[in-house]
Amino acid sequence: MAEATAYSLIGIYGGTFDPIHYGHLRIAEELTEILRLNHLFFLPAGQPRLRDTPVVTGAHRVTMLHAAIRGNAMFSVDDREIRRSGETYSVESLQEIRQEYQAKYKAGKHIALCFIIGVDAFIRLPHWYRWCELFELCHLVIVNRPGSALINNLSDLPDELKAACQTRQAATIEELKNSHCGRIFTTSTTLLDISSTKIRSIIASGKSVRYLLPEAVLDYIDKHNFYAGEK
Ligand code: ATP
Ligand code: MG
Repeated sequence: MAEATAYSLIGIYGGTFDPIHYGHLRIAEELTEILRLNHLFFLPAGQPRLRDTPVVTGAHRVTMLHAAIRGNAMFSVDDREIRRSGETYSVESLQEIRQEYQAKYKAGKHIALCFIIGVDAFIRLPHWYRWCELFELCHLVIVNRPGSALINNLSDLPDELKAACQTRQAATIEELKNSHCGRIFTTSTTLLDISSTKIRSIIASGKSVRYLLPEAVLDYIDKHNFYAGEK
């Protein structure tokens, strides 16, 4: 009897990371365990289409990511969007990543990408460029976020998203491992009410952001005087 392929799950965590904080890192750590990921890549955005230009350059945000994950062999940074000029689109990056990572991966092993997004980003998905194609490239893993409506049930979603998601919900990790794309998995990691916006504004007001993000990232911010003039 033919055995079903079990795909190796690779996490791709996209964001602006301006700067990276413990909210991001805790999600990455917990999802690595929950999904039994083979590896997790942070994918910092270059020039996202749907939000303001990041405050700090891509190169500096990449350096802060490296400082934050130093010593963790499960995490890496994929800086392709930073190296590319102009607007960047997740769908294009994921297309490239799928091809490259599969080619690099161990012979005979097939990978499935798990694209990780917070619920605030997920609700805005229909605004993304070619968003429906994401389901042909990866699974989506949605994590809850304090301050955003918690999704326990996909029927709470706006209609456009609900229709696209109705048949895609995966109840177990095994369902993610049974196909290389197209499933949606929702989970709740430890809720940490931390955002980069909040960190930037605390720094601008001259107060301490210590313990909201790794010490090494804070040192780098202090050294370069980042965010001091931001609101
Ligand atoms: P900003 O305030 O600049 O938007 P942010 O803290 O939201 O920054 P992003 O880089 O925008 O960080 O986030 C990347 C991804 O991580 C998004 O999908 C976002 O929903 C998610 N995320 C960020 N912080 C948290 C958090 N504390 N809890 C849950 N999800 C989070
Ligand atoms: Mg955000």
